[in-house]
Amino acid sequence: MANGIAAMEALADVIIANKEKLTELDAAIGDADHGINMTRGFEAVRVKLSAAEQMEDIGGVLKLVGMTLISTVGGASGPLYGTAFIRAAAVAQGKTVIDTDIVAQMFKAAIGGIKDRGKAVRGEKTMLDALEPAYEAFTQAMVKGESLTDCLTLATAAAASGVEYTKTIIATKGRASYLGERSIGHQDPGATSSYLMLAALTAFAIE
Ligand code: ADP
Ligand code: MG
Ligand code: MG
Repeated sequence: MANGIAAMEALADVIIANKEKLTELDAAIGDADHGINMTRGFEAVRVKLSAAEQMEDIGGVLKLVGMTLISTVGGASGPLYGTAFIRAAAVAQGKTVIDTDIVAQMFKAAIGGIKDRGKAVRGEKTMLDALEPAYEAFTQAMVKGESLTDCLTLATAAAASGVEYTKTIIATKGRASYLGERSIGHQDPGATSSYLMLAALTAFAIE
């Protein structure tokens, strides 16, 4: 996969297109701003990317995305996703092309960043409930020798199942945890945005 800027633009487009949906999900168990937060961040990312037209270093692009999310997103999701992109950037630093193995390393680093920052584990009804099963599906496909696009497709399917799973559990991290048992039955907004980003990257890689 090459062209980090186009990949990040595709990702930004999907988040912005799902602004209302993400905000509605957050209205049910949070403070009704996840779509607003993410859209603010990714609109700023789009502006930064168009100014960085010539940037070929995928690590540089991801770092720019991460820094922009941290500086523009007010909610919990900004520093969490920002850290994820910055950690992935460190793996991709200096690279203009990435392969399945590097993507796996980037994915792992991104999840590690979210865990360091948010102190959550899987099963707490957060973005990790989409991302960790997705990473597992990715690496399982990778060891079987599947292509990058197939690994991504399987990862995205696992993320979708992870989003469904968040409906069945109680939130114990973030604002949704204030609801306790009343958070059951609602899907997590952050897990949903994670799924959407993976789906966008997968569609981009397949094109
Ligand atoms: P805020 O809750 O500050 O309004 P957002 O609405 O933008 O921020 O983001 C909420 C999402 O952030 C949640 O749906 C959840 O997936 C994720 N989240 C919240 N706290 C954590 C955490 N400690 N670790 C991982 N993800 C978290
Ligand atoms: Mg919120
Ligand atoms: Mg908020």
